[in-house]
Amino acid sequence: MLQSRLSVERRKEAEKNLKCPICSRKVGEQGYCRLHAEVYEVVIKKYDRWKKATEMSWKEYLREIAKNPLTGEWAREVAQYLIEVEGQKNVKNS
Ligand SMILES: [Zn+2]
Repeated sequence: MLQSRLSVERRKEAEKNLKCPICSRKVGEQGYCRLHAEVYEVVIKKYDRWKKATEMSWKEYLREIAKNPLTGEWAREVAQYLIEVEGQKNVKNS
C-alpha cells in the first residue's frame, strides 16, 4: 500500500517536471504540451478514418503526414516524433 502510494507520488512528480518531447515546453496530461497534445489528438482521429479507407499502416500514415507539404508544422513535428518512437520500439523488439 505504501509502495503504491509512493509510485503515484513519484509519477505526479515526474509529470510536473516533464517537458514536451517535441518542443520542451511544459507538458499537460497527455505527456505533450497543450499544442502538441491537440495536434496529436487530430492525428489519431484522422488515422482512424484513413485506416478504414486505405488500410494504411500507422507508420505509413505518419510518413505521409511528415512529407505532406500541406501538413502544418505542428502536425509534421508530431508525426516525426511518433516515427522516431516507432523506430525505437522496433530496435527494442529485434
Ligand atoms: Zn510541444
